[in-house]
Formats: sequence, C-alpha cells, structure tokens
Amino acid sequence: MSESPVTVWDSVMSDLRTQVPSTSYEAWLSDIEPLEVSEGSLVIGVPDSFKKGGIERRYRAAIEEIASSVCRRPLALEVRVVGRESEDAAPALVHNELAAPASQGALPLNPDYTFASFVRGENNRLAVAASEATAEAVAQRLKKPYNPLFIYGSVGLGKTHLLQAIGNFVSSADRECTVAYTTSERFAIELINGIRSNATAAFREKYRQVDLLLIDDVHFLKGKEATQEELFHTFNDLHGNKKQIVLSSDRPPEDLSGLQERLVSRFKWGLEADIQPPNFETRMAILREKAIARGIDVDNDILELIAKRISSNVRALEGALVKAIAYAELQGEKLTPKNLEGILPKEGRRPKLTIAHIKDEISTRYELPRSELEGASRKKEISQARQIAIYLARELTEHSFPAIGREFGDRDHTTIMHSYSKIKALLMDTPLLYAEIIEIQETLESRYSLLR
Ligand code: ADP
Ligand code: MG
Repeated sequence: MSESPVTVWDSVMSDLRTQVPSTSYEAWLSDIEPLEVSEGSLVIGVPDSFKKGGIERRYRAAIEEIASSVCRRPLALEVRVVGRESEDAAPALVHNELAAPASQGALPLNPDYTFASFVRGENNRLAVAASEATAEAVAQRLKKPYNPLFIYGSVGLGKTHLLQAIGNFVSSADRECTVAYTTSERFAIELINGIRSNATAAFREKYRQVDLLLIDDVHFLKGKEATQEELFHTFNDLHGNKKQIVLSSDRPPEDLSGLQERLVSRFKWGLEADIQPPNFETRMAILREKAIARGIDVDNDILELIAKRISSNVRALEGALVKAIAYAELQGEKLTPKNLEGILPKEGRRPKLTIAHIKDEISTRYELPRSELEGASRKKEISQARQIAIYLARELTEHSFPAIGREFGDRDHTTIMHSYSKIKALLMDTPLLYAEIIEIQETLESRYSLLR
C-alpha cells in the first residue's frame, strides 16, 4: 500500500466521518492538512492552536486508532499549527473560532463518550441498562421501553457521558435517525435568540423533528419560564409522535423546585434512574479505563491511592490521575505513592467559587497574566479573555455587575454588562466558543462549589 500522508489521512477521514456528527465534523475536522507519516507517527496541520487543542482533546484517540489500523502499526498523532498564527506567533486564543461556521444543529457529541468507555458498577447499573435499552430501541425503531428516560445524580458522575453515549450509539447505528443533544441552558439561549430574531418557528421545527432529543442538566431550567413553556410543548409533540426523550438532572424530578408542575409530572412518565458515587472497586476500574484511554501505564498502588483519596466525583478522579501523570513527566521522576501524596487534592467540601478563581482559570488557560485581565489592554485576545471571565463571573457567582466591575480594574457596571451580553450573544452563533465555555465551567464546577 502506498503510504502518502494524503492516502492515510483520507482513509482516516472516511472512517471518522461515519463516527462524528456532521456539525462537529465541519467544525473540527474539515480543514486539516495531512503532512507526514513516519514509522511511528502521523503528523497533521491545523490552522490555529485552538483547533489543535480541540482535536487533541476530542479526537486524538479515535484518529490514532484508525490510523494505526490502516497502517498496521502503532502511530501517534502529532498536530502542528500551520496557519497564519504560527507565523506571527499570536497566543492561543478564542478569537480564532469566531470565524467558525454557525451551528444549524444542536451541540456536537463528544465521540469519546460511548457505552464502551463507560465503566459499570453498582452505582450506575440501572442508569446504564436503561440507557442501552433506550439507545437500541431508538436505533432499531422498536417500541420505547421508557419515555422519557430521566437520569439523575450529582456532578461529575457520568450523566453527560451516558446521554452522549446514547446519542453516539444511535447516530452510528442508524444514520437516518436525527439526534439532538443540548443542555437546558443552551436550549434557553437558542430560544431567546430565536425570539429576538423572529426565528422561533425554525427553532421549534429543529427540535420537534428529531427522533431522539437529549437534554442535559434540566435543573438549570429553574426560573426560566419561557424556556419551560417551550420545552413543555416540545416534549408533548415528541412524546405524542413516539419520539424518544432523555433528560438529565442533578436531582430527581420531585425535588426540582422552581419548575412548572406540569413539566415535572411529564418528567415522571417514564423511568427515573439514579447514578450514585462509585465504590472503591468501580473507582479503580474507572482509573484503569482512563489510563488505558490515555495510553499510559500506571502502577496499581498509585491508582489505589488516588481511588482511596477521591471518592465522590469521577471528573475529579480523572483530574487527579492526569495531574499525577503530568507531574511525573514534568519532574522526570517516577510516580511513587510518597510524591503523589503532596499533589493529590484533599477531598472535603469544595471551596466556594470566587471571581479570583475564575481569573486564575482564564489566565492559565489563555496564557495571560492575571493583571492583563484586570488591565486596560484592548488587544483582541486579551479583551476577549477578559469578557469571558466577566461572563463567567456573572453566570457562576452571585456578584452584581458593579461588584464584578470592581474586580476587573474598577470598570463601570455598564462596561461589565456590555461584556456579559456580548459573550452571551456570541455563544449562540459560535459552537466552538460555546463548547469552550462549557468546558471551563465544568472544570470550575469540579473544583469549586458554584452558586446559582
Ligand atoms: P456529569 O454530567 O454527571 O456531571 P460527566 O458525564 O461529565 O458527569 O462525567 C465526568 C467525567 O467522568 C467524564 O470525563 C466521564 O467520561 C467520566 N465518567 C463518569 N462516570 C464514568 C464511568 N462510569 N466510566 C467512565 N468514565 C466516567
Ligand atoms: Mg454534565
């Protein structure tokens, strides 16, 4: 077989195309340039570092797996930035994505969230069984066993993973099936934008013609009256047409205060399945799975120590593993239980999220000093990072606009309101920015307790 990078990449892409929903395919994978295939690696070029990060996070495993099977030897993926950014060495920042196409559909599914990569335990048995039965029924167009399926459990226990596994299963099993995944917040933003631009009909049409609707985090519908109203009608329409609905929430329907009674009563029509924190054995199994997915070999005593220390949140468990590995790599030392002790987070109550935490996260992520976020620079990448920080401060803490202004270099509250609305509007048209912000939000949520 001739092994030009182009041929190899073409076969990778034709395989990926069947696995990745078209919106994410367009957003992430359409403008990649194959550069080189060597004995041990496949090198591809992307236009900017935002894409580089996204592809590495989301698709590395899939690309490596396909490329290795095409070439019949293990290949590691290397992603290089070859666009203009590499010439003028602009910092990796969100402005790149502003050119991304606006999404017509709902949110992209993360291809890593599959049933195969979901570890089963006593804590999630019912939720997994019900999710699989539901996914199969939709894909095979059989009678739905539970409609809706309502999955609940506290943060970081795998609700999003399961919802997306259902979506991934259905879209790869039957490509005629239309699947929409969204969060209640995204649904609300879309509705508001639809109303603003006289496009509510298109919005309705989009969600009412799907075969499978996955709505994540419905507890955030609290206080959003118009969105609840809209979802109520969407629900009735889909349910009446025997289309499947799957919902997730951090609590069971009966505890969803602040939601309309008629909506909550519909949430109870099907099956409620909870996910509890995993026990020690399951935590070990999850850590092994995550280590394998990253292609690294970690000693059992290290995994045991992590599993003993972190018990209530799988995202935190995974975070501790990643941190431990990075530490060992950076220090060039072998990980031992002793040096691991020092770097593991102490579990206990998570501290309350503050604006300072948000600034820290944004400054690390975009490689900008914190002072720049408070400062006056109008450079695009700085001002956008600042606006994102302001947006998050408003969404995730209880501070008022004037109070936030004081934390950002004594800015006037009207400036803060403007930044906030600007990001809020951009989110709607920019799926990559949306995905990025959700990711930041989830990172913060796994470390701090949020007030909303
Ligand atoms: P939630 O939506 O409930 O807050 P997520 O679905 O985002 O939680 O899960 C957080 C992280 O933990 C994800 O990376 C997910 O893959 C992982 N995770 C959670 N439960 C499991 C599991 N049982 N097996 C494998 N990974 C899991
Ligand atoms: Mg989630």
